[in-house]
Amino acid sequence: MVLANPGRTRLLAASTVLVLAGCARGEAPMTRSITREPFGVTAQGDSVALFTMTNANGVEVRVITYGGIIVSLKTPDREGRPADIVLGFDSLPPYLTRSPYFGAIIGRYGNRIAHGRLILDGETYTLTTNDGPNHLHGGDRGFDKVVWDAEPFEHETDRGLILRYTSADGEEGYPGTLRATVTYTLTDDDRLQFDYLATTDEATPVNLTQHSYFNLAGAGGDDVLGQELMIRASAFTPVDSTLIPTGEIRPVEGTPFDFRTPTPIGARIDADDPQIHRGPGYDHNFVLDRAGDGLELAARVTDPASGRTLEIRTTEPGLQFYSGNFLDGTITGKGGRVYGHRGGFCLETQHFPDSPNEPSFPSTILRPGQEYRSRTVLAFGVAG
Ligand code: BGC
Repeated sequence: MVLANPGRTRLLAASTVLVLAGCARGEAPMTRSITREPFGVTAQGDSVALFTMTNANGVEVRVITYGGIIVSLKTPDREGRPADIVLGFDSLPPYLTRSPYFGAIIGRYGNRIAHGRLILDGETYTLTTNDGPNHLHGGDRGFDKVVWDAEPFEHETDRGLILRYTSADGEEGYPGTLRATVTYTLTDDDRLQFDYLATTDEATPVNLTQHSYFNLAGAGGDDVLGQELMIRASAFTPVDSTLIPTGEIRPVEGTPFDFRTPTPIGARIDADDPQIHRGPGYDHNFVLDRAGDGLELAARVTDPASGRTLEIRTTEPGLQFYSGNFLDGTITGKGGRVYGHRGGFCLETQHFPDSPNEPSFPSTILRPGQEYRSRTVLAFGVAG
């Protein structure tokens, strides 16, 4: 076997060196694996499983089959000390009743559709309205609130989970049966990749995303206002008072929305700007500067204290930057830690909000015979 595959031998030898290096420093040896255990039962009686993936460098990702939620994500700081950098809960019940989409897959349509109204090929469809007058994140029971089928896999230098869910015709008001597959892959070079795939039997809008709340200093610590953010976007989509885009694509130049050079999240978050007042804070879609339709850099975040960095690449045209404005200290999360105002940020790769009602925005309509494909890659690292 070894003779038949010399490449594999080399890789195994490299990982053995890593394990021994860890032991020599008296640290726990790094193991690469994916394991499964129970995580509770939903109100409907469905069992939920928890998968734990680890890579060769001590990055650990824990995902549950309810909502495809990333319940924990541990990465090392510049001294090699791990911390959990996503907000969430220790057990299933709070995810079922009071989670603001912590760590979940969002679908069919991430973000808002005005008045839940969808006009498609001359037909009008009424979607659930669950955010004031609007439809948000797929409705009352979006993809974040269903149990996905899960199939783990393990390759030599990555491992992951394939999640599958079939959304019935008419669910939350959407037309057509939608078959969705989301694959999470954790690689040995500290990347977490999200691959989205969907097909339909009737035209329907699709906009899938991942709703993790990050705090690179560790979830449940200070707010994220000192963490430095770069967004590769020269424009954003201003919103009305219900956070629906007005249709304008506005340059960020000279506004608090200009993150083209790294800037602390809090530097302009209280600026006297009508769009900032609407958030209140950042809750806006950024129009990414793109050269083509491949995987391109969208954002980079650095926590100066821990040194942790997060880089986001995507095939999507937009990025919703939400600065945790609605976190208000009423949610107690993992380890009894209270999630205070702006204690986490979301960077949701996506198509623009309300695209079905804005003909000038890139289309989100998937038709029979087509495949919806989208990829986002998070890369974890440390800086000086
Ligand atoms: C939206 C926010 C919303 C949050 C949690 C974000 O994607 O942009 O307006 O409050 O999700 O619900």
